[in-house]
Amino acid sequence: MRLGWLGVFLSCILLSVQVNAGTWPQEARIPGGIAILEIPQRSESPPHVFFNNQRVYTVKKEGRWMAWVGIPLNQKLGKAEAFWRTREGDLPLTFNVADKAYPQQSLKVAPRQVNLSAEDLARVRREAPELSGAMNNFRPVILPLPALVKPLEGRHSSPFGFRRVFNGEARNPHSGLDLAAPQGTPIKAALPGRITAQNHYFFNGKTVVIDHGQGLTSMYCHLSAFANLKVGDEVEVGQFIGEVGTTGRSTGPHLHWTMSLNAARVDPELFLP
Ligand SMILES: [Zn+2]
Repeated sequence: MRLGWLGVFLSCILLSVQVNAGTWPQEARIPGGIAILEIPQRSESPPHVFFNNQRVYTVKKEGRWMAWVGIPLNQKLGKAEAFWRTREGDLPLTFNVADKAYPQQSLKVAPRQVNLSAEDLARVRREAPELSGAMNNFRPVILPLPALVKPLEGRHSSPFGFRRVFNGEARNPHSGLDLAAPQGTPIKAALPGRITAQNHYFFNGKTVVIDHGQGLTSMYCHLSAFANLKVGDEVEVGQFIGEVGTTGRSTGPHLHWTMSLNAARVDPELFLP
């Protein structure tokens, strides 16, 4: 009997540790970073916060509403303005975006992946709305926020934000974090959510997008294989979603992992402890 109560007591402690271990990103008011702003809303319902015409993720911490504002890589430096929509009108939330000199990286890939044929270009244009729709959507659901699970343990082979030069030609900056791992390494969902895209895309290869609610999404690219899941399925944190590969525009087996807030790709390292 006494052991039974001890068991209950210990599991209560463990439960409270788990609840308190929820994800909290590091703040970095730079392009590709996150500004964490307090919203003085008293009610239990989440405040409506907007940045660059996108609704912003909000979460309550110690009784206070906080907004996680994703800052896009192409954000103008200096004063930035989000706003909080109240009954009395829109109230500005200003913050300053500091410079960050992301290094440049040169890569060699198949020429057809840099200068696209008309057919491939048409394919990329066809695929783009499916991916951006899955990544940039604000779904007004509040999902549990357990501690984020790193999708796999691997060397950080290419950090977020690098200015990319493919075969000598400048292309979009690197909007995710590359984790090197052998072909077939299992990949885990970083947070709980719903699969909103799962397909084989020209640049991203075999890709899974998970929507974690309120505009927080994650994407996993260049997979060799998918798990037995489909669009619309709910996944748990840490659930197996696929295997590492090198499909799409890729120079070798690795996982390209993207995190996004309010349609802005932010540095996944900010979410790691
Ligand atoms: Zn990458």
